[in-house]
Amino acid sequence: MRFLIRVVGVLIAIYAALSTVRRLLNVFTPAGHVPTPTTDAGHLVKDPVCGTYVPEGRAIQAGGQFFCSEECRGKWGAVPS
Ligand SMILES: [Zn+2]
Repeated sequence: MRFLIRVVGVLIAIYAALSTVRRLLNVFTPAGHVPTPTTDAGHLVKDPVCGTYVPEGRAIQAGGQFFCSEECRGKWGAVPS
């Protein structure tokens, strides 16, 4: 009987160790991994002059259009808003 109690105690210790390891692994590999966005300045907008796609946050907005540079804005003839 004493032997059986010792075996059960060892099994409980192994189970506790395994669940601890599993919990630590879950910390390092979270299930709900969300991919980070590739651009920090929002979605891309098209420059109507040169056709370049520019992040909206970095584009020059004038006359309802988005431009990659002041040069393209000048070619389009739009006034900065
Ligand atoms: Zn341009």
